[in-house]
Amino acid sequence: MKAAILSVGTEILFGQTVNTNATYLSQGLNELGFDVLYHYTVGDNPKRLEETLYELMSKVDLIVSTGGLGPTEDDLTKETICKAFGEKLVKDERVWNEILERFGKNHWEITKNNEKQAYVPEHGTVIHNAVGSAPGFAITKDGVTIVSMPGPPREMKYLWNNFVKDYLAAFSDEKYYSLTLRTFGIGESKLETVLIDEIHGQSDPTVATYAKEGQTQLRVTSKHKDINQARKKVEDVVKIIEEKIPGKIYAYEDIDLQALVGKMLIENNLSISSAESCTGGLFASELTNVPGISKVFKESYVTYSEKAKMEILGVKQETLDKYTVVSEQVAQEMAEGLYRKTGSDVNIAITGIAGPDGGTEEKPVGTIYIGLCYKGETKVKHMKLNNNGRIWVKNSAMLNMFHMIYEAIKADA
Ligand code: ATP
Ligand code: MG
Repeated sequence: MKAAILSVGTEILFGQTVNTNATYLSQGLNELGFDVLYHYTVGDNPKRLEETLYELMSKVDLIVSTGGLGPTEDDLTKETICKAFGEKLVKDERVWNEILERFGKNHWEITKNNEKQAYVPEHGTVIHNAVGSAPGFAITKDGVTIVSMPGPPREMKYLWNNFVKDYLAAFSDEKYYSLTLRTFGIGESKLETVLIDEIHGQSDPTVATYAKEGQTQLRVTSKHKDINQARKKVEDVVKIIEEKIPGKIYAYEDIDLQALVGKMLIENNLSISSAESCTGGLFASELTNVPGISKVFKESYVTYSEKAKMEILGVKQETLDKYTVVSEQVAQEMAEGLYRKTGSDVNIAITGIAGPDGGTEEKPVGTIYIGLCYKGETKVKHMKLNNNGRIWVKNSAMLNMFHMIYEAIKADA
């Protein structure tokens, strides 16, 4: 089935808002097997929106639109779509009650404008919105379906995942099976090179790669009338991928390394502390993004100066003099000192050169040493990260800290 994405909002045309909704919906629609043929963006202008709707209605079977469903005067998407699809707007008491309840709970003042949001197309399907006040809706007329959702990405994603995805999946008699693999330690372009036969060589299943903040993701998708057939196709290709990139896959679901390691720490009841130099607390910050981490996270130090490394962690002056601060020996003493101080199961420490200055021929910018004292035993990992700028180096160093912990817990299991 042919599909188009229609983004409504003058701020997108001005370049003030990045059209992330279109990216998200394109991926989602492709996964459901729709052929997305157009991305249209139109400002908050009813006349141009109406013209665009007529054009798309003659070109595709499905239009998925976002934006312009809010309570203000310039939010005219609903009215315009109803005009183009010959629908009357009627008040929906359930939606109205939902709005009243939401406003009451938050002690917000309700205005006349809000009542506008309780109006829905008479013969449409209402898509209830638990995270905002504008409901979405779907209408089908003369073989063309339009699904309209609010513009804020959080609301759009909620509606998509809780209703629209399943609603649209029913349009096809084929079933989709897809598996997401998360990888670490291999860049997107390398991944594409290694898996060239899987990515470009076949259409069932399809294999797509995405880069995500220093981590990469692979999505393997197959569609068949019989879901078991689709699953088998996916699993067979996943086996081939596993053989081609041994040790690089850390999860078979869409989860960040940080979140996964946090979960592993909590599930295994492993207490953790950290001592950071070049990452400046980034590791601790990322760790505290994990819900429930307070059960295991004890303490964290940013020991940036040599003095702090000595006073807080007990790093020896001789070690600093003999090997310099960015060295295997200092990383080891940092991790061991942290263990003595905290008694944690997992003690992770890092020292490195984030740049732009401070690099030498022997230890260029991007050189890091990660010390891990795991259940009393210490290992140090030495790496030379690409020098893609200070922030990049910090981020990559932080991810490598998580990865080292991941490997230690896995080896211990
Ligand atoms: P609201 O009730 O918030 O007014 P709405 O459905 O009217 O919802 P818009 O007014 O069009 O939505 O957009 C609200 C905000 O949502 C925008 O300011 C922008 O931050 C975000 N947004 C809108 N469209 C997109 C898009 N296509 N991609 C990413 N963000 C978007
Ligand atoms: Mg709006």
